[in-house]
Amino acid sequence: MFHKQQISALTYYSSSQFTQAGGVAHGFSTRLGGVSHAPWESLNLGRSRGDNPEYVKENHLRFSKAIGSDMNGVILCQQVHSDTIQVVTEENRLTHLYDLNNFEADGMVTNCPGLVLTVFYADCIPILLYDPQKRAIGAVHSGWRGTAMGIVRRAVETMAQQYGSAPGDVLAAIGPGICPRCFETHSDVPEALNDALGMESWPFIYPLSEEKYGVDLKGLITHQLEQAGLTLGNIDCSDLCTACHPEEFWSHRRLGEDRGNQAAMIQLL
Ligand SMILES: [Zn+2]
Repeated sequence: MFHKQQISALTYYSSSQFTQAGGVAHGFSTRLGGVSHAPWESLNLGRSRGDNPEYVKENHLRFSKAIGSDMNGVILCQQVHSDTIQVVTEENRLTHLYDLNNFEADGMVTNCPGLVLTVFYADCIPILLYDPQKRAIGAVHSGWRGTAMGIVRRAVETMAQQYGSAPGDVLAAIGPGICPRCFETHSDVPEALNDALGMESWPFIYPLSEEKYGVDLKGLITHQLEQAGLTLGNIDCSDLCTACHPEEFWSHRRLGEDRGNQAAMIQLL
């Protein structure tokens, strides 16, 4: 179950199965409770969107405090719609929040306590992973390209290879992201999904009209996690759509580049 958490104006979402398992701090941010001005109003966590760096830093501080993570352990990657999973160690610590010379990846895994794996989202789907047995975590950014490449499966495989995680022990939280009604596409997206995944993708593609299709990315990601060996009961999926709720979330589809960024974060305590 996803729960809405509010600490004065700051609003975020958490997954109860992570909270119940313990040993981990995590959260999915909204646009509410920060200090940035329009069009980044107000909890913008994106560093490269043109916002005032001091505001972004203050927003990071507020969000870290709210979820109980370590501001100095924030690990960010350059998201490039790939299926690359970076194994993160202490060596990947940033010298400062605006250090943009870090790696290109769309997923990260680690077993180092204190490092805060962070992925950004504004329609694309954020996924957090936690193996309480082997004490390992992951964070994944999966838009339609990453989903076509099966990035979430790769993240679970990497946790198994690196940390000996049994997929049946891994908990997953699929955060707020675009719904099938808002993710209206031409035939290019269904064709790309079909080329990459074949029949597996068909139950998650809905014809909307003669030339338009809706794609259920969260459904497809849930299916991919099950295929990777997770049990359905260990997969928590938010039903919130970032495009349906403009008052609460930034949506790339609705706003284009004129917006801030939400972040999903997870850290071993
Ligand atoms: Zn929607």
